[in-house]
Amino acid sequence: MITVQTPNFLLDGRKQHYINGRWQAPIKNEYITTYNPANGEALTQLARGSDADIDIAVQAARKAFEGDWRKYSPADRHALLMSVRQVIEQNLDELRLLETLDMGAPFARTERMRDHLLRMISFFATQTANCRGETIPNSLPGNFSTMTIRAPIGVVGGIIPWNAPIAGQWWVIGVVLATGCTAVLKPAEDASLSVLRTVELLTSAGVPDGVINAVTGLGNEAGAALAKHPHVNKIAFTGSPATGREIIRASAGSIKPVTLELGGKSPDIVFADADLDRAVPGVSMGVFNNSGQVCYAGTRVFVQSAIQKEFVARISEFCKTLKVGDPLDRSVQLGPLTSKRQLDRVLEYIEIGKSEGATLSAGGKRLGGDYSNGFYIEPTVFSDVNNNMRIAREEIFGPVMSIIPFDTAEEVVGLANDTNFGLGGAVWTRDVRTAMKLVHEIRAGQVWVNCYGMVDPSVGFGGYKESGFGWKGGTQHVDSFLYQKAVTINHD
Ligand code: ADP
Repeated sequence: MITVQTPNFLLDGRKQHYINGRWQAPIKNEYITTYNPANGEALTQLARGSDADIDIAVQAARKAFEGDWRKYSPADRHALLMSVRQVIEQNLDELRLLETLDMGAPFARTERMRDHLLRMISFFATQTANCRGETIPNSLPGNFSTMTIRAPIGVVGGIIPWNAPIAGQWWVIGVVLATGCTAVLKPAEDASLSVLRTVELLTSAGVPDGVINAVTGLGNEAGAALAKHPHVNKIAFTGSPATGREIIRASAGSIKPVTLELGGKSPDIVFADADLDRAVPGVSMGVFNNSGQVCYAGTRVFVQSAIQKEFVARISEFCKTLKVGDPLDRSVQLGPLTSKRQLDRVLEYIEIGKSEGATLSAGGKRLGGDYSNGFYIEPTVFSDVNNNMRIAREEIFGPVMSIIPFDTAEEVVGLANDTNFGLGGAVWTRDVRTAMKLVHEIRAGQVWVNCYGMVDPSVGFGGYKESGFGWKGGTQHVDSFLYQKAVTINHD
């Protein structure tokens, strides 16, 4: 195992909330311990936020929203976002190290994310110019003109998941800064550090105090308090469908809009004419990337019967080439799962797959030896899976692939859509007619052809069914952080 010097950010041994541009101790003075998933050792302590802490942070965000932040023009917010981009770029290696220690992201993965993350911030900088209304020709009887004005929605509650907060938090921070909103972030208890360090860096980049705040703690305490707070105007949530339902219930009290990006059980469909040299690694990394802790992971792999045997053999061989291990080792592709809870959950699903009668074709075990204290699982492939098995229906959120045979395009459309989710999907084929048929018929928020998981901030990313509603990225995303006012002027 590689050892690194403890980052300065962790030397104090415990992290407080970041509210109004400074660190603030939790009112109840309670902390929770967070662990390094690579070795199971305690990493640091996080403030355990309560209703009172959330209330203080929301008040700070409200005050900032009504203060000088309102006077920032689109050009000012653009300049601010570009300065933020520079500060994040300069400190990205530190943020990556924190992310790796905190939730186990392999260093190689966050290196690949660098470009994506910086492009996200640039995208949101361009969107400052899109916070605008329209002049609309009207049919009113008389001499009226009509227009719409768009204004920032107000204080946003951003509830951040644990699978990739270093980048995921920008779906909230970026759009909040672009639109002139303010925010209270509640990072996940298993992965708060890159969020806490980012909000601190925002202050040094010139973001006014109170515009972006972070309160740490447990989901059913700090998270629930944020979701129900009457002075929060919108909730942006990414996480599990079960918590998504809680968020909807909590938001009902003050009737606040929510955007929800929830789970998936995405189909990845391989036709016999596909270029298997590309499809084998593409399909594999569509599942094993981030050890499968990706909402749009293509975990249901439908393979046309004619190539079933060859495909299973090649995928199983490919798994043997993947390096699982210490996430600080730059040659490692799969790090540990983020928490013991997640490890136990994935191991349980592997047992469920075996008991359901699926064939275990690769992996399936926790790593032992030097890795036995960490939360590592081998890339795991089940073949001969039936779409009705639990491993094909329930989100596992781990490195577990289910290979399901099919014969015709019609059949696979039915199987692909026979799921409670609708986040992503992909098709591998050389036939453009087959590709376009599937593109039209898969019910999912995004469909990839001959690739998997390409997400660009300028295109809205979202889901159908239990995968949630609302968009991340694209102009729809920006619109959902603005409210519209219709204006009618009588000229007589
Ligand atoms: P998982 O079940 O995989 O841990 P969650 O959806 O529970 O995923 O977690 C995503 C985020 O939601 C985390 O920041 C977590 O703290 C938060 N959270 C969990 N429960 C609630 C809740 N009842 N209300 C608000 N936020 C919550």
